Order: sequence, then C-alpha cells, then structure tokens
Amino acid sequence: MRWYQISADETAKQTNSDPHKGLSTKEVEQRLKRDGRNEWKEEKGVSQLALFFGQFKDFMVLVLLVATVISGLLGEYIDSIAILLIVVLNALIGFFQERNAEKSLSKLKELNAPMARVLRDGQWAKISSAELVVGDVVSLSAGDRVPADLRLVSVTSLETEESALTGESLPVAKVTEKLESDQLGPQDQLNIAFMSSLVTRGSGTGIVIGTGSNTAVGQIAELLVDTKRKETPLERRLEKLGKILIVIALLLTALTVLAGVYRGNPVYEMLIAGVSLAVAVIPEGLPAIVTVALSLGVQRMIKQKAIVRRLSAVETLGSATVICSDKTGTLTENQMTVKEIYLDGKTYTVTGDGYDPSGGFYRDDKESKEEALQQFLRYGVLSSHAKVFRKKKRWMIDGDPTEGALVVAAKKAGIDEGKLSEYDILHEIPFDSKRKRMTVLVRTPDGKQIAITKGAPDVLIEKAAYLGADKKLLADKDKRKLYEAVDQMAAKALRTIAVCIRQFPAGYEPKEEELEKEMSFIGLNGLIDPPRKEARDAIIDCRKAGIKTIMITGDHVKTATAIANMLHILPPAGKVVEGKDLDHMSDEELQADVDNMYVFARVTPEHKLRIVQALQKVGHIVAMTGDGVNDAPAIKASDIGISMGVTGTDVAKEASALVLMDDNFATIKAAIKEGRTIYSNIRKFVRYLLASNVGEILVMLFAMILALPMPLVPIQILWVNLVTDGLPAIALGMDKAEDEVMKQKPRHPNEGIFARGLGTKIVTRGILIGSVTIIAFMLMYQGDPERLVYAQTTAFTTLVMAQLIHVFDCRSEKSVFARNPLGNVWLIGAVLSSIVLLLAVIYVDPLQPIFHTTDLVMRDWTLILALSAVPTVLFGFMKK
Ligand code: ATP
Repeated sequence: MRWYQISADETAKQTNSDPHKGLSTKEVEQRLKRDGRNEWKEEKGVSQLALFFGQFKDFMVLVLLVATVISGLLGEYIDSIAILLIVVLNALIGFFQERNAEKSLSKLKELNAPMARVLRDGQWAKISSAELVVGDVVSLSAGDRVPADLRLVSVTSLETEESALTGESLPVAKVTEKLESDQLGPQDQLNIAFMSSLVTRGSGTGIVIGTGSNTAVGQIAELLVDTKRKETPLERRLEKLGKILIVIALLLTALTVLAGVYRGNPVYEMLIAGVSLAVAVIPEGLPAIVTVALSLGVQRMIKQKAIVRRLSAVETLGSATVICSDKTGTLTENQMTVKEIYLDGKTYTVTGDGYDPSGGFYRDDKESKEEALQQFLRYGVLSSHAKVFRKKKRWMIDGDPTEGALVVAAKKAGIDEGKLSEYDILHEIPFDSKRKRMTVLVRTPDGKQIAITKGAPDVLIEKAAYLGADKKLLADKDKRKLYEAVDQMAAKALRTIAVCIRQFPAGYEPKEEELEKEMSFIGLNGLIDPPRKEARDAIIDCRKAGIKTIMITGDHVKTATAIANMLHILPPAGKVVEGKDLDHMSDEELQADVDNMYVFARVTPEHKLRIVQALQKVGHIVAMTGDGVNDAPAIKASDIGISMGVTGTDVAKEASALVLMDDNFATIKAAIKEGRTIYSNIRKFVRYLLASNVGEILVMLFAMILALPMPLVPIQILWVNLVTDGLPAIALGMDKAEDEVMKQKPRHPNEGIFARGLGTKIVTRGILIGSVTIIAFMLMYQGDPERLVYAQTTAFTTLVMAQLIHVFDCRSEKSVFARNPLGNVWLIGAVLSSIVLLLAVIYVDPLQPIFHTTDLVMRDWTLILALSAVPTVLFGFMKK
C-alpha cells in the first residue's frame, strides 16, 4: 500500500500520530535519533586544515615559497627560515580571518533556515523544518514551502506548485480522500503535499510521511542545492585590480633584477629583491580583507535585526536611492483595533486599545448592545481565523492582525469562538490581496446556509446588490452614502473592512461561484493601525541621505494618504496614485511622472513590479519590500529585495536579498547605514594598503634611479607587507560610521573604488611615504657602506611609522582631524601591536641579523618620527 492509497486516519495510525495533538516531544526525540534530521547531505564545508593550506595557494605566496627553497639551496638558511616564518605567520592571519568570515556566513545560513508550523504536545509551534519527523502534524498556508512529504488531512482550497518535482508549473488542487489506483506518479498523488513544492493558495494540514532523503524530492535533491557563494561585484572588481597589479609587479621585478644585475649585483640577491618587490606591489591581503569586512558587516546587521541573504546586497544597499515599502506592519505597528463600526446608517465608537478585549460600543455617548450589532460582530468572527489569547498578562493574537481585531471587537460584546461552535464552516474562498476579499460558507444552527464575505469596501460596494439584512435594493444613492462613510473613516487613518452576506434557502447546496453574487451589504469596520514612531524618524533620516521613501499598499487611498502624512512621506506636491490609475497609464507615462509619486494605494502585487521597473528605468536603485506569494517577482526584480521575517512567506524570503527580522522599516534604514559604512570602510583600507604599497615601490625605484644601494632588504619589505600592514587594515574594516554617512547622497552603483578622490589620495600619500623613507635613508647613509645597515634600519622604521600614522588619516574622507584618533579601539590595538613587533625586530638581538637591523637611539627616533609624520600632517587636512 502506498500513502496515497490509504485514508488520513489510517496514515495517523500507521505513523503512530494524532492529528489533533501531534506527537509528544519525547517521541520526536526518539524518531529524530532513528531517522535523522529532515535534510540531505549538503556539500561539506571546507575543513579547517584545508582552509589553512588554502592560504598557500595564492600566487605570490607560491613565488615566495620557491624563493625560500632557492635561498635554502644556496645555503642562505637564515633568509629562507625567516621568509618561511613570515609566510606562515601571514597564512595564520589569513586563516583566522577567513575562518571568522566562514563562521559568520554559516551563522547566516542557520538564521535563514526554513521553518515549519507543527503540532506537538497539543500546541502549535514554529520550528526549524530540519527537526520534523515522520508522524508530525504540519500546517500549510499560501506562500509556504512544503517542509516534508505530507499526507494531507484537511485542505481549504489548497493548491501547490510542484515544478521542482514534476516540471509542471501550473498549481495543482489538493484533496484529502484516498486514491485507488496503484500506479500514480507524483503529479497525480493529489492527497500528498511534496517537500519543496510551493503552496500557492489556500491552507491545509498534513501528517509527515517522509523526511530528508526519504522524500520524493530528497532522491534528486543533490541536484537542487546550490551552496556555492557567488562573489560580490566589489570582490570581483578588486580581483581584477589584483590581476593588473600582478602584471605591474612582474614588470617591475624584471626591471629591478635586470638593472641590478647590470650594475654587477649577484643574481640571487637581485632575484630575492625582485620577489620582495613583487610582494610589495601586490596587495595580497585585499580580497580576503574585503570578505572579512563584508562578513563583519553582516554580523553587525544581524544585531540590528537585518539578515542578509546575498552578500552582494551589502554593497548595493549603500547605493539605494528609493525604498518602496509596504504599509501594514512595516510602516505601521500591525496591531489593529476596531475603533468604529458603521451599520444601518449609524456609526458606533468602539472603546479599548490593542488586543485587550475590554471595551464597549457607544452611539451618541450611550452604550449600545443592539442585536444587529451583535449579528455584525458574529459575521466578523465567523469569517476570521485569528485567535485571541493572553500570555504573561498580555493580550495577543495568533493569525492575521486584521482578523484579530474583528475577533477582539466581538469579544468585547461577549461573543467568542466557544459561543459560535454550533456554526459549521463548510467552504472558504481564501483572502488574496488581488481580490481584496474572502468568503466563508457557514451552516447556521438552524440549518440554513449563509455566505459571509469580508474585504475592501470599494470592492464590496460595487459587487453588492442589496443593502442590509432585509435585502433592500442597493441604489446609487445608498452607494454614495456608503462611500461617504468609508471616506470619513479613511480620513481618520482607519483601515476599512466591509462585510456582506448572502443567505441560501435551507437544503440548497450553493456552488463556489454563487457565494459572492447578489450579496447584501451589511456594514463597515474601521480599524486603527498606528504608524510606527521609529519609522517616521527613519523616513526623515533617509530623506537626508538622499533616499526617497514610497509607500505601496493594498489599503484605501484615503487611509494610505492619512498614514503617509503622519509619517512625513508625502511632500506638499507629492502624488498619491491608485492601482486603477496605474492600469490606465502606459509605462512611458509612469516613468515620466514616477519621481513625483510617493504613495500607491489599492495596488495589487502585479503593480509593484511595474513600479520597480519604472523607477529602475529612470535610474533609481530600488529597495522593495514584500511578504506575500505574489510579491516575489517584484522583490526579485528590485535591486535589493526585502522580505519580512515575521509575516513574510517562504517564497518572498527566498526571492529577497535581505530579511527584516522585526518587519520594521527602521531596520531598512539601519541596514542601509551599515551598507554605506561597510563600503566606506572598504575604501579606507584599500586606500591604506595601496598607499603603503605605492610608498614601498617608490622607495625601491628612487634608489634605482639615484644609484643607491637597496634602502630596504627583502625581508623587511616582506615583514611590512605581510605582517604589519594586515592588522591595521582589518581594524579599519571595523571602523564605526562617520557622522556624515547618512548625510551624503547615495553612491552611484557603477562608481569605481578609486572614485571621489581616493585614487589621488593613494598616489599623493604613497609618493610622500616613499619620499620620506628615501630621505631618511639618504640622511643616514651618506654614501658610507659601513652605515648601510643603520640607514636601512632607519628607512625601514620610517616606512612603518609613516604608514602607522597615515592609517589615522585613512579613517576619514575629510581630514585626519575630523575624527577622534582614539575612536577605534581595534585600530589602536593594531597600531600598538605593530609598533611592538617593530621594536622587537629592531632591538631583540637574535632578530637583528635576520632583519638586517641595528639599535636606534633617541636622536634617530626624533628624526624618524618627524619624517614619518610629514605625509599625514602635510596632506591630512586635504579633501583630495
Ligand atoms: P500592505 O500595506 O502591506 O499592502 P494591506 O493589508 O493594506 O497591506 P492587502 O493585504 O493587500 O494590503 O489588503 C488590501 C485590502 O484588503 C485591505 O485594505 C482590506 O480592506 C482588505 N483585507 C485585508 N486583509 C483582509 C482579510 N483578512 N479579510 C478580508 N479583507 C481583508
């Protein structure tokens, strides 16, 4: 017998499960041990050892290793051991950096792991899908990825899209009855929901019958997982830069070697010098430090409740020029409360706040308990799924907040679910944001059937044929009155939900298409959903940062406008556009005017895609939020797709690059700020590393031109590049944001890394660093070969100190004096440890012969410090 051939009850029996209570925690533990987790073998991560040896794969490191072997063969043991030690030290630094980066990226993966709603010990809970076991009872709703293979127990218009498994992209309607045939392929097993397929409509529950590699898709899963991380555009760009620098390095090396040999220096010495010079030119640490900076940024974003799903988003965030945000939940609290009810031409005020069901109904200051009102509230509950409960002295809801508000309102009148248990829900047409309404067919205790539709009033007023429970014909005059009532509520920023009904004679079995026809309009609910306070400030901050905020909502135009005004989204001349206006607009017309549009109301998810495309067409970098199944195309098309961690569906999350753990608009701003900070930090260390490299090359070139002996010995160059440069660069990557970071215009996405004066800065500072080093050398050398080691030590120390002072200039694009030099403790630590290492190399006796150094006295230090401060003091206050 196959699972689809037996009934749901039989499935429960065979899996030792209970559809009403689920499994017990103890049972789950045993089954997890027996069957393993609900996942399949993924490509294994890189082992620590492989990561360490990976450090030696770098081209330059290989060249160095060859040089070590050569010097060893030639009997220069001290040199070869020293080079080897430096290379190993460098590899260790690289290893720890990369390991941290890997760790933070795999933590991200955990945060992004799919979740499932499961019934255990009689309670519904959200758990990681990997912890599902056979027998678990799981619920599904539109937008979910099915978390395991399920034999369905109940369905409400449930449809799934199974293309990953069957190749068929049209959704399949699911059933619960057992199927007879014994030769059915997956596409015909209508009572099974397959792991990885997508719930496109409706809802349902099912019992897990297979997990991990025991699912239909698990068998072919290895083909589907894509675990490779793609490089970000910046990483790619820097890699390209690296390649150009390699060519320059090789040319320079060849030049130095040839020139040196021509002047009669030993070939071996010149080869090692050439290799060191090549190492000096190539910023080998750069790509790794970029990855580290990105992953550190990702960690900081997690703390601010933004989860990055694609690393490239970190970069793109800094360029965002427009944020298109949903209203409900992102800009508002998503804590809805019914404040007004409009019924039979009368308006009732509802007291009470939040989901606390204490309060009452008042008309003209008199409490009202009319039966018509009771009946209206009952309709609201019957057509809602949400549950109200109290936890830790707080009233909360489980389900859709709009529906929660209706359930709470009814509770205020003493109507709760228990009292409605004699009503049977026979059928449901689920809510979707395109139709903006939902309908249930209910059997009342007296055996009659009644369809209750709730939804956007403008949709329902147009669809209704009658008015009131006694079915008066709905005349134009009545419609106008209803629209007026809606407008009045909406102008107070209330969200409006209308309720219509259609009654059917006893014994009559209506078809689905009859439920929303010939309806009678009953009344209106006006719900308050207060704007988030922090959203308003974030919107103002974004405006200062040159980023426009657009509100996109399915809500009524007046409600949307009122909320947009409260949030300072809408400038005086800003336009509010409705979905139906968009339908009459060509793409060209939309593009021509889109810069003046700030609020889009009553839109469908399809409109969102057009809005994104129009904005992109006129040159914007668009961040777009979304949570529903149908939002995925717009999220995907935008430059930074953003989904909601709490209310978002799996589909929306998968399409997005950024997930907001708290669904909050202010988090988008925080992420943008972080994105900008990371980019500016990357600019900082690129500038630091490259200026240092330019300085080092120039020292060698100057010496060649001036026919001086080499001012730096190879081992010193290696030391500076591989050991003392790295730590300050990483510390720059962890620098805090400059105050200006959210006061500047967004960065152009195609802007190169050297843009806005960075190239000039690198070259000018590099020239100065090189010049002071060669000057220090010449002052000490004075043409006397006896003084060579002394002069070299001075040059080496000047170079290191000039870089360590210059690093503080790199912290700001404005001026070295713009920031508190002690503001970055990491940098202070890095600089201090570099100085300690430098002192060790100069003063520790056994190290002196290795590094060709000798003791320096106070007078030397005065000269060194004076010279090494020159580049920063001279240029530190310049913007270019
Ligand atoms: P957003 O601002 O995120 O687009 P929204 O809630 O305003 O969210 P939709 O969810 O598309 O947008 O809702 C559109 C309209 O449908 C609402 O204004 C409301 O009138 C109606 N509506 C919303 N939720 C329900 C529901 N659960 N049942 C019936 N009608 C609903």
